[in-house]
Amino acid sequence: MATDYYRTLGVSRSADASEIKKAYRRLARKYHPDVNPGNEEAEQRFKEIQEAYAVLSDAKRRQQYDTFGTVDGDPTAGFDPFRRARRGGGGGPEGFRVDFDGVGGFQDLGDIFGHFFGGAASGRARRGPKRGADQELAVEVSFTDAVKGTTISLPVQRQLQCSSCGGTGTEQRSACSACHGAGVVISTERMRVKIPEGVANGTRVRVAGKGAEGSQGGPPGDLFVRVSVQPHPFFEREGDNIHTRVPITFSEAYLGGEIEVGTIHGPVRARVPAGTNSGRTFRLRGKGVRNTRTRAYGDHLYTVEVVVPKVVSPAGEEGARRVAELYQGNPRERLPRTL
Ligand SMILES: [Zn+2]
Repeated sequence: MATDYYRTLGVSRSADASEIKKAYRRLARKYHPDVNPGNEEAEQRFKEIQEAYAVLSDAKRRQQYDTFGTVDGDPTAGFDPFRRARRGGGGGPEGFRVDFDGVGGFQDLGDIFGHFFGGAASGRARRGPKRGADQELAVEVSFTDAVKGTTISLPVQRQLQCSSCGGTGTEQRSACSACHGAGVVISTERMRVKIPEGVANGTRVRVAGKGAEGSQGGPPGDLFVRVSVQPHPFFEREGDNIHTRVPITFSEAYLGGEIEVGTIHGPVRARVPAGTNSGRTFRLRGKGVRNTRTRAYGDHLYTVEVVVPKVVSPAGEEGARRVAELYQGNPRERLPRTL
């Protein structure tokens, strides 16, 4: 019976190149003769893994294998992933170098494989409890929810240890059918995440222990929820302060008056002093956003803008002329006239 290369690598027939590479790397680490000295079974398995990878990693050979179930010639011919790491054979064509210790074994197999395939040394062939990886996901919340705080329910994909094989990836010497040999499964859990009052755009909210599950009894990683806050059409946030622009009438500016200023905490009655110029900014203390760390509230700053009525009437014209007489001189006389 022909060898099932997919089964050997524990991947599905539809697995893409990166899945195949990943599976190969993981299995190669596990069954490498240098980590299993004197273990003939491991050595045999290692050869099978190499053979399977030689075929499945080559698009032409893979197609041939998929179609005919066999591959012409020696599948491993011309393929030797370890040629550059052969004992004493440091300094490969790309300047690749492997250091061996005095006995001749790899010092850190995880690192070596990391270099080998040009990827980051993600997994080390280290035994014992290992903390799960941190996971991050992004959410967008409304301006109001960010200011007031909220609790959101999110579908979170967590990496969990496969319960069928206990995270080993193998069942009776073949790839675990539940996790396809990966040792881990992805499960989607709905999670309630508390978004604290006053959260700022770009904040990472940490949910302790909700990242990937640890292996061999190691603690889980953390989940980080990156919060982006939608802007508000009226309230503008700067740190813990809120800025708004408030139109006032000419008579409110000239005579003074009481106006209503909308804040994130509700409307506030505020006095406009007589003789207020357009563009003046007033502060309402403690009417801003609560700081997530100090728990103190920022301020609300509003800038008044004098608006001119659109309707023109003879009485209005007469009034405006009278008002103009009240200016003592040209209001622009102190401005420079040019550079
Ligand atoms: Zn499994």
